[in-house]
Amino acid sequence: MPTDKDCLFCRIIAGEIPSQKIYEDERTYAFMDINPASTGHALIIPKEHARDIHDLSPEALAATALSAQKVAAAVRDTVAPDGINLLQCNEPAAGQTVFHFHLHVIPRMEADGLALGWPIVPGDMDAIASLATRLRERLDSKNT
Ligand code: AMP
Ligand code: ZN
Repeated sequence: MPTDKDCLFCRIIAGEIPSQKIYEDERTYAFMDINPASTGHALIIPKEHARDIHDLSPEALAATALSAQKVAAAVRDTVAPDGINLLQCNEPAAGQTVFHFHLHVIPRMEADGLALGWPIVPGDMDAIASLATRLRERLDSKNT
């Protein structure tokens, strides 16, 4: 399984940097975020080092998603939030600061003021349809 000795999250998995671990299995590791967006904010990471969604193996992605579902249920039962966001960032433009793939589990309360949303503004339907066509073509070509 690929790891990176200079990666913060690989070092957390290896136990070289302390963390508040909440769950671990063969492929994944989950721990509390030290700068929580809300009470109960947790991170789920694959043990395989991968920078982002593009580098991650399908098996590691599936395992991380399954662990996130378990962690989200524990957060729901323990913290009793009104809702939960799953968040994943790729590249600094999208808010990524640690370059080892991770899923955020972020508990939400009604009107908690956390700015994770965007304004609902109708899009240009012709532009949406035209881009959908290009994406379908791209996905179809990868599937054949
Ligand atoms: P992102 O901005 O999506 O790359 O998220 C990285 C997250 O890692 C942030 O929410 C940080 O607060 C969190 N983080 C950074 N260092 C640590 C650490 N040593 N232990 C736990 N969480 C961390
Ligand atoms: Zn890593």
